[in-house]
Amino acid sequence: MQCIQCGWCCRQYRGYHWAKPADLLRWHDEGRKDILRYVAAGRDTTGRPRTAAELERADLERYGPVEGWTDPATGTLREDCPFLMQAGPSRYLCSIHPTKPAVCRETNTWEWGSGRYGPWGCPVSPP
Ligand code: SF4
Ligand code: SF4
Repeated sequence: MQCIQCGWCCRQYRGYHWAKPADLLRWHDEGRKDILRYVAAGRDTTGRPRTAAELERADLERYGPVEGWTDPATGTLREDCPFLMQAGPSRYLCSIHPTKPAVCRETNTWEWGSGRYGPWGCPVSPP
């Protein structure tokens, strides 16, 4: 089965991708604060939302799985993935593909079959 990069799966999941501790540690080790800043980490004593980009590695070892991508300014859950990039009228790419979360790497949407998610099935999945 060949993915046609329609972006449906990423748009359907929207912000609800659960990064696991291993993802957080990898991003830390890779210096990917641009990714970690979309992971909420509570608030500081003034009430300002903190992000995982501000945490030390030892803190990240105890953190997660996280609920999903969050807005760095407000700490609230986003309704989309900040890393989904539109590459054409109906073509979408992952802008963090080499280091995307394990859940994105391990989910083969085309194997679900159209029955599992009804009318929202991956267009190249078998009936
Ligand atoms: S819904 Fe299917 S074809 Fe579309 S991007 Fe996802 S895996 Fe690829
Ligand atoms: S991280 Fe990449 S693969 Fe995962 S939902 Fe976002 S755009 Fe899709």
